[in-house]
Amino acid sequence: MIKTDSLTRRLYATDASLYEEFPSGVAFPETVDDIRALVTQSAEKNFSITARSAGTSLAGQTTGDGVIMDVSRHMTSIIEINTAGRFARVQPGVIRDTLNREAAKSGLQFGPDTATTNRCMLGGMIGNNSCGSFSIKHKTTREHILEVDTILSDGSQCGV
Ligand SMILES: Cc1cc2nc3c(=O)[nH]c(=O)nc-3n(C[C@H](O)[C@H](O)[C@H](O)COP(=O)(O)OP(=O)(O)OC[C@H]3O[C@@H](n4cnc5c(N)ncnc54)[C@H](O)[C@@H]3O)c2cc1C
Repeated sequence: MIKTDSLTRRLYATDASLYEEFPSGVAFPETVDDIRALVTQSAEKNFSITARSAGTSLAGQTTGDGVIMDVSRHMTSIIEINTAGRFARVQPGVIRDTLNREAAKSGLQFGPDTATTNRCMLGGMIGNNSCGSFSIKHKTTREHILEVDTILSDGSQCGV
């Protein structure tokens, strides 16, 4: 479902940046199938989709005049922390510090230390290739990504 009431559109017209643009609607996907349906609909009805997790971007990345797709409300699960393989599988709305609190129980951590770690989410960290003051030691987000499940513009699913 895409929400189009003016309050919701107003709430999603800004992010942490100085930019402001009224979206035509906001979607809150709960599953991969919801995202696929939204992408299919965007192709049929010719609107753009702007993904958003915590919205802490500084250059207007999560503002747009199409539909804002907010993954922070429902897609917040840590699917697996694999201690032996030293990897985690997460949904895009998992907060970086939440992941690390869970990973710490296995003696692991996800290194990139963006200043906004207590709210920024893995989807947005991948989108921005986030890193922080320890980037020399911990590198950037992309250097820790093993695989990303994506929905392409034709609605097909692709693991890259
Ligand atoms: C005070 C402050 C300090 C900051 N310090 C740093 C810093 O030290 N280092 C740094 O790198 N950045 C920093 N930032 C910028 C920002 O906080 C980080 O880049 C953060 O990791 C973004 O995460 P987010 O969840 O807010 O992403 P968002 O802002 O929500 O999204 C970021 C990008 O990812 C895309 N995206 C989000 N989810 C998905 C998805 N599911 N699928 C596809 N694309 C998606 C969005 O469309 C957007 O382009 C700072 C920002 C602030 C306000």
